[in-house]
Amino acid sequence: MNRQNLIHQLIHNEWDILVIGGGATGLGVALDAVTRGLKVVLIEKQDFASGPTSTSTKLIHGGVRYLEKAVKELDYGQYKLVHEALNERKIMIQNAPHISNPLPFILPTYSFWQKWYYLLGTKIYDWIAGKDDIPNSRILSKSETITKFPLLNSQKLNSSVLYYDGQFNDAFYATALMRTAVEKGACCLNYLELTSQEWDNENKIHKLAVKDNLKNEFLEVKSRLVLNCAGVQSDNIRKMFFHNIEPRLRPSKGVHIVLPRKWLPSQHSLLIPSTEDGRVIFVIPWYYAVIIGTTDTEVKDPNSHPKVTNEDIDYVLRQANPYLEKPIQKADIIGSFAGYRPLVKANKTNTEALIRNHEIETFQEKNFISVLGGKWTTYRQMAEEAVDEAFKVLNQKYVSCKTKNLPLIGASEKKYENTLNLPAEVHQHLHYYGSEYPILLEYLQKYGSDLIVENYPFTIGEMFFLKEIAQIHTVQDALMRGTRLGIIDFEAAEKAKIVLENIFEK
Ligand SMILES: Cc1cc2nc3c(=O)[nH]c(=O)nc-3n(C[C@H](O)[C@H](O)[C@H](O)COP(=O)(O)OP(=O)(O)OC[C@H]3O[C@@H](n4cnc5c(N)ncnc54)[C@H](O)[C@@H]3O)c2cc1C
Repeated sequence: MNRQNLIHQLIHNEWDILVIGGGATGLGVALDAVTRGLKVVLIEKQDFASGPTSTSTKLIHGGVRYLEKAVKELDYGQYKLVHEALNERKIMIQNAPHISNPLPFILPTYSFWQKWYYLLGTKIYDWIAGKDDIPNSRILSKSETITKFPLLNSQKLNSSVLYYDGQFNDAFYATALMRTAVEKGACCLNYLELTSQEWDNENKIHKLAVKDNLKNEFLEVKSRLVLNCAGVQSDNIRKMFFHNIEPRLRPSKGVHIVLPRKWLPSQHSLLIPSTEDGRVIFVIPWYYAVIIGTTDTEVKDPNSHPKVTNEDIDYVLRQANPYLEKPIQKADIIGSFAGYRPLVKANKTNTEALIRNHEIETFQEKNFISVLGGKWTTYRQMAEEAVDEAFKVLNQKYVSCKTKNLPLIGASEKKYENTLNLPAEVHQHLHYYGSEYPILLEYLQKYGSDLIVENYPFTIGEMFFLKEIAQIHTVQDALMRGTRLGIIDFEAAEKAKIVLENIFEK
């Protein structure tokens, strides 16, 4: 994927759609639009997925908590959100089974009635999901519960409910979306920032100034429509186009702490059903780590960098530890990450209410659409709605959405033979590339299969693949999006830098 070629395309075309933001939403829009025959360009000011798109809880879910709310408060909006997300759960896993999977959860119960109450809830959840490859929920006895999740504090435990949801590698999924969109003909570029905009005389063509943040140069891009997918920064973009516009977003911060994968001798996750602020906390085996979170605190400045504070860590430990046989100590924590949720105010009349679902905001006369709010799980649905809207604004012959059954690059569950006699962990790790496993082998043969850091299966050859094929330019991108070491193990990330600095830009 040659950046110079993509930049050449960017400045020498007049685009149907320019997408701002290379997170889940923008990448979903780019893929949806290009597969419906539109000429689409996407610009991302940092790396792809550098926002909450790579710091999510990594769940593809409807949210059992939202379902409980829907039932208790007879809230049809919440129900619709759960229904839509469970439908998308199935599609997301089907389209990229190499980087997503069903995940079993243990929901501990402490009384006879609580057991049946939770089972009823998860059965409704299964029923809403309909027919898919995700197993249904059931009750586990106390001893079965402890066998499946040995770290659970068994005092006062009655039993548990076992239910399933979806899990994925968020940054890998974003990379797969970007690469699939480019393969289909979209022009997606990172490190390009929209800095200003003006319309032509008829308000029909946007002339956009874009800064190349790798080269410190300005470029001019022309597009018929602008689709704002800037996540928590969407209000900045709205203001750039309409100076006096009211902000719509009210972001909230969520943090996770990370423990070594060996800390949890189980494939099962734990759902801690009640916390001091009425939320839930997850303890999840994920990739080469265990992640625990999340929190929900108000964000004063959405443009600030989300940080994990001591208070955040104390909060997570305070909620999780009573449920564990042996409390987690701060010294056990080897990584952490935080992100801002792009929550959107419900509507103009009810400015205080926040909704978890999304809104498509259109300025027809100005050829400008914003996709506000939403969650990872519903990225495809949001993209479909946004591109439907784009067809109307562009007054172009409608083409229906193609992404429901569109396998992403690499989509395959095939198990490959270890023909190069690689260490078992490296061989297993390369399966995250799905059907591209054989291509990875070529890179390992060409550039070497030495590890970039001990105890993790990332090899030099894989780093060259990421550099050449996945638009990973800097050491930081390799740590955050390429390997995920930047969130799962800070010490290993520091050590890996020494090797990565020979391959990527600092
Ligand atoms: C802690 C936490 C946990 C979560 N867990 C889950 C979960 O388990 N499951 C789930 O479904 N959802 C989850 N979510 C929600 C989900 O992560 C987000 O809804 C989703 O990632 C938002 O994607 P986005 O593309 O809209 O925004 P972003 O990821 O913020 O992407 C927007 C991009 O726009 C870019 N940008 C901004 N301004 C410009 C500009 N001027 N020029 C170019 N680019 C620009 C930014 O750099 C950014 O990369 C979670 C969120 C958080 C914070």
